Amino acid sequence: MKVVMKFGGSLLASPGGIQRVSRVISKGSKKRMKVVVVISALGEVTDLLLHAATNAKIWDSTQVIHFIDRIRGIHSQPLAEMGLRQPTYNESLDQLEELLDDLKLTLSGVSILRELTPRSKDLLLSFGERLSLVVVSAGLRQAGIAVEALTGGNAGIITDDSFGEASPDVTKTRKGVREKLLPLLTRGVVPVVAGFIARSATGEMTTLGRGGSDYTATLLADAIAADEVWIWTDVDGILTADPRIVKSARVIDELSYAEAEEMGFFGAKNMHPLALAPARKAGIPVRIRNGFKPERLGTLINPHERKSSVIAKSVALVGNVGIVTVSGETLVGRPGTAAKIFELLGRAGVNVLMISQSVSESNISAVVRKSSLERAASALSEGLSQVGINAGVKVEPDVSVLAVVGAGMKGTPGIAAKVFSAVASKGVNVMMIAQGSSELNISFVVASRDSEKAVNALHESVVLGK
Ligand code: ADP
Ligand code: ASP
Ligand code: MG
Repeated sequence: MKVVMKFGGSLLASPGGIQRVSRVISKGSKKRMKVVVVISALGEVTDLLLHAATNAKIWDSTQVIHFIDRIRGIHSQPLAEMGLRQPTYNESLDQLEELLDDLKLTLSGVSILRELTPRSKDLLLSFGERLSLVVVSAGLRQAGIAVEALTGGNAGIITDDSFGEASPDVTKTRKGVREKLLPLLTRGVVPVVAGFIARSATGEMTTLGRGGSDYTATLLADAIAADEVWIWTDVDGILTADPRIVKSARVIDELSYAEAEEMGFFGAKNMHPLALAPARKAGIPVRIRNGFKPERLGTLINPHERKSSVIAKSVALVGNVGIVTVSGETLVGRPGTAAKIFELLGRAGVNVLMISQSVSESNISAVVRKSSLERAASALSEGLSQVGINAGVKVEPDVSVLAVVGAGMKGTPGIAAKVFSAVASKGVNVMMIAQGSSELNISFVVASRDSEKAVNALHESVVLGK
């Protein structure tokens, strides 16, 4: 049995985390599993790098050095604590310093030029997984596991050069990954692959987008025709709601790919929105499991869409979004306006998460990430006036999207009524509504100050059925 196992950053960075990971892998190997390991950056390192990337433009050399010291500390501490034998310990420290030198050069470059290009941002973010690779592979070797450490690119993942959200070239990736990984597995070696990062056809460092390590795992699984993908994280599986917000959240035993994807789009488990696609296409089951409690089964994601007695399987909350609304009489009965609006947003690089138009046609609203809200508004006001459409553009910055997901909602009348009365019972106002035609989800927008109250009310009534 071939299994791709991905280990998340919080798990790796926990005390004794790497030893825990090595026990999971050794157990798999004892059961004659052929294991491919995918790792994330340690803890919050990607967030720190992102922060540095955006601030390096205004940093001086002291701030760069201070940052490098912080990153060194995060990685040298687990190396020191694992009691590594020589020469592994010194070799690992050397590899760490080499990467830190490169990171310092890259950050200093941004700081001197006062410019961060998408290319240099990806290069900066790549250090998280590359540094983690040094630490984790040393720990696994110490535990007696024969490993080969590979970056995503070295493992054969080839993408286009849309930095920040690069798309894999499936044909090249399948071929490259097979050529690289299959001989290692035959020799009984465990490939340890840095997730999230890949390489463009011209050899540049690219990243797959936030949460991309899960995507790396399914891409590798597809290429080597793995039997399963196991995503080890710090919670019991996919839960009925974000456990940080809803205390009564429970594990969902089984989900279809469609349901899990729908939840992923809405941020459950911070999963990359495309992470399940390679597994779904290849029919490879994905299990989400708790690395702190490996005896538990977790959530199984597979092709079956089972209707359960509950109406909805989960409630998700997406914060950091805003609404941009275009309104005016000039929109009414004018074909092509919607197309123009979305073309303008697309050209401005704004990703639209949700859309609604009233039947009166006098306004069209779109939910976008808060970081692109101002960009969206100016692209629309300038672009529409250029083509002679005289419309008002308004933004609502402090809102959140709530999404109720589950196959049980398909073709069941009265669900919307139940959803909205749960929200109304808490006195929460609904600002915008959309239901996907798959009927797998109903999503709507509320003011951010009301969002946690609304999520809890929905969870009680439509997920737990109370
Ligand atoms: P990892 O480091 O393993 O990739 P992530 O941070 O990407 O972990 O995702 C796991 C976290 O997602 C959990 O710790 C949990 O707080 C959060 N989360 C939010 N919604 C859900 C949900 N519905 N089910 C499970 N986890 C969720
Ligand atoms: N380290 C990357 C991130 O934080 C990728 C991942 O963890 O999946 O987004
Ligand atoms: Mg993640």
